[in-house]
Amino acid sequence: MDFTKEAQALQEKMIARRRDFHRHPESAWTEYRTAAFVAQTLTELGYEVACGAQVIAEAAMMGVPEADVLAEHEKRAVAEGADPAWVAKMAGGKTGVVGTMRFAKPGKTVALRFDMDANDVEEAKDEGHRPYKEGFASCHAGVMHACGHDGHTALGLAVAEILAGARDELCGTLKLIFQPAEEGVRGARAMVEAGVVDGVDYFFGLHLGFNANKAGQFACTTDGFLATTKLDARFTGLSSHAGAAPEQGKNALLAAAASSIAVHSISRHGKGASRINVGVLQAGTGRNVLPDRAVVKLETRGATTEINEFMISEVKRMVQASAMLYDVKVETEIMGGAPSCSLDKEMGEKVCELVTATGRFGEVVPLVSLGASEDCAYFMERVQQQGGQAIYSMLGTPIAAGHHNFRFDFDESCLAAGAATSAELAAAFLGA
Ligand SMILES: [Zn+2]
Ligand SMILES: [Zn+2]
Repeated sequence: MDFTKEAQALQEKMIARRRDFHRHPESAWTEYRTAAFVAQTLTELGYEVACGAQVIAEAAMMGVPEADVLAEHEKRAVAEGADPAWVAKMAGGKTGVVGTMRFAKPGKTVALRFDMDANDVEEAKDEGHRPYKEGFASCHAGVMHACGHDGHTALGLAVAEILAGARDELCGTLKLIFQPAEEGVRGARAMVEAGVVDGVDYFFGLHLGFNANKAGQFACTTDGFLATTKLDARFTGLSSHAGAAPEQGKNALLAAAASSIAVHSISRHGKGASRINVGVLQAGTGRNVLPDRAVVKLETRGATTEINEFMISEVKRMVQASAMLYDVKVETEIMGGAPSCSLDKEMGEKVCELVTATGRFGEVVPLVSLGASEDCAYFMERVQQQGGQAIYSMLGTPIAAGHHNFRFDFDESCLAAGAATSAELAAAFLGA
């Protein structure tokens, strides 16, 4: 099987799909149009397709938009060409898809994961930004594929096509996981809880760009995943007249402000690095009214899951203490999160050997540090807990601006090499 040739033949299709996804970006839990297209394509290729509640455990979904917002996006997807039958199966934001193919000969179970969601970013609209200049910039206000997940989805579908074409030669069971809501690290846990990686022997995650920002570059493994938790704290006090009866009010703004300062004073941790950030503080209704409402949106990170758990338990304690200080109520809600994770060296070494042998990349790097959070860590952790192995690779490509920037774009010529390599690795590990 000539994987390079197969992927080259799909290059134009991949680019066309990437641009279509780019033009119609969908943020976390609203990927109805993208997921419906994925489900339909996998079905046509002969995969057994599971989606909606089959692959998303509702209780483990984090940071889900309100029901009316979801309903609006379901309608929009259908208006933009999504098959209503698939969209109906994904109602309630359950926009995950898993394609499974069982090959005739016995072998291992291999899973590849691709994320599909876009960012809450307003895309640049000027001639200097290639997607705008070439007519595939976002047609959805305030949403943009600024992380490359449009490329991941297109690449994943090409891998599906290449491997379906080789079904008579392959062994074992292949699972292609298309995940919603990676941004804000909200989606993977719900798929893990639905059991989609149970029984997986080898798991592959992949991202384009980041620290692999050169053409012809492939980083076989990634470490430095920071564990993270995203938390909202909603304070409720009592409004009153600021001149006539301030003593009758309960000041939610001050409680939120006190908590914001307090959490930045959480102790460092002796076992490794930690992070804290209050990114949003909204409070009050008017200049002459004692503020009765406030919202704090924050995140913690840690070099390990243990350090992050220390951070978040301190956050909760300080938020409660701040509420008590000002005699207001507070509710906290976890809006997203991911554990840290470790890569499997043995699998990484084999991947390095295989990727180097393909001769497809000018520069094969054994390891890069992510220095960020990725909820792929949930999949990797579950696979490893069950005795399987997992790695996360980076596909090199020059990028027009940093990830999540409104001018983000990548060089689409990386897609063919990425698809060929992902398919080749899957094939090799299926038979391992
Ligand atoms: Zn991102
Ligand atoms: Zn990303």
